[in-house]
Amino acid sequence: MCQHRGSSKTSEAEDMTVRSGREFLAIPGPTTMPDEVLSAMHRPAIDIYAGPLIGMTDSILARLALLFRTARRPYIYIANGHGAWEAALTNVLSKGDKVLVLESGRFATGWGAMAQGLGCEVEVLAGEWSRAVRPEAVAARLAADRGGSIKAVLVVQVDTASGVVNDIPAIGAAIRAAGHDALYCVDAVASLGCMPFEMDAWGIDIAMAASQKGLMTPPGLSFVAASARAREIHKQAGLRTPYWDWTAREGEEHYRKYAGTAPEHLLFGLDKALEMMFAEGLDAIFERHRILAAAVQEAVEVWSQAGTLGFSINTSRERAPTVTAIRLDGDGLSARLLDYCHTKCGVVLGRALGDLSGRGFRIAHMGHVNAPMVLGTLGVVEMGLQALGVPHGKGGVSAAISRLAREVEA
Ligand SMILES: *Cc1c(COP(=O)(O)O)cnc(C)c1O
Repeated sequence: MCQHRGSSKTSEAEDMTVRSGREFLAIPGPTTMPDEVLSAMHRPAIDIYAGPLIGMTDSILARLALLFRTARRPYIYIANGHGAWEAALTNVLSKGDKVLVLESGRFATGWGAMAQGLGCEVEVLAGEWSRAVRPEAVAARLAADRGGSIKAVLVVQVDTASGVVNDIPAIGAAIRAAGHDALYCVDAVASLGCMPFEMDAWGIDIAMAASQKGLMTPPGLSFVAASARAREIHKQAGLRTPYWDWTAREGEEHYRKYAGTAPEHLLFGLDKALEMMFAEGLDAIFERHRILAAAVQEAVEVWSQAGTLGFSINTSRERAPTVTAIRLDGDGLSARLLDYCHTKCGVVLGRALGDLSGRGFRIAHMGHVNAPMVLGTLGVVEMGLQALGVPHGKGGVSAAISRLAREVEA
């Protein structure tokens, strides 16, 4: 190989990058944080016993309730999503209780594995990584549980690994149609604040989410909301521990809401993120996510024409508005594509997880994301497919642009 820079066209092209500039983080969490959120955190700490923090906690709790669409007060945990999973389970279950997990990717089963670790009996209603949970299958399984041994049903709204969106109201209706009183527990980590969620109207007993995805805030905060029924069952729950305990967190003093020192700077960031979200309007945010997801899907649809890559989720209406998971066949190809996009172009794509691990990639489009970010990301993916010689249908980005131009009128 040629040793001297510049003396060979090939090696010059190989060394070349177009990476300097703003890096695009297209992984499904943590997501891109707005500059306003970053600067809101850049300030000294304040008193935790009196003053503005007290009002900020109240206002954050009230706005979180508006996101969950519940009349009840959520709980804030200084933890990632896994912490909120544990909080949800330990507050309502006892050792030996049976839990039904609705599989549609990796996250509900992860939540179930945690329940198992806590001493619950876990049954997985098997699903596939290519489709959403079937509400009829849930109804049938619960109808067969005549003794009512199943105490809780765990499901995710968006599974970030498979890229599926489950029909949460339909599954809730199926549980009620079966006449079963299992607690309906929904993980909205990768969907809250990005698409409709109606805790009370959909009959959800426990909803949980975290700060670092649609809520555009650093990882480290998570949220749990409980229905009146869940709060009642909580009184008898055997798995309760002092740190996660709802009753303890309902104490009068402000510090009890955090079971200790408030995570002030994360709260400053979240406060600003929520301010931005309510200024845009939730319906406008949901529509922005729907449109940007549609643009991503148009591009992937076109690239898929050559057969080398394709959606992990078969039906378009079951594809999430927040993340798109893409299969890419070929040994080591997805790793090379991820590497090319990152090191050459400054776009960080999500690696594939679980069943798709090493055989695909993910494009996140949730939270602080707009048309140039999505088009830039898609453009870089298409550039990578071309540079690596991956057979793909031509014109994916063009199709995405056409979709956006149709959806967003002059
Ligand atoms: C990211 C994610 C989680 C886990 O959150 P952590 O903060 O990583 O613990 C749980 N559920 C879903 C659907 C997620 O996308």
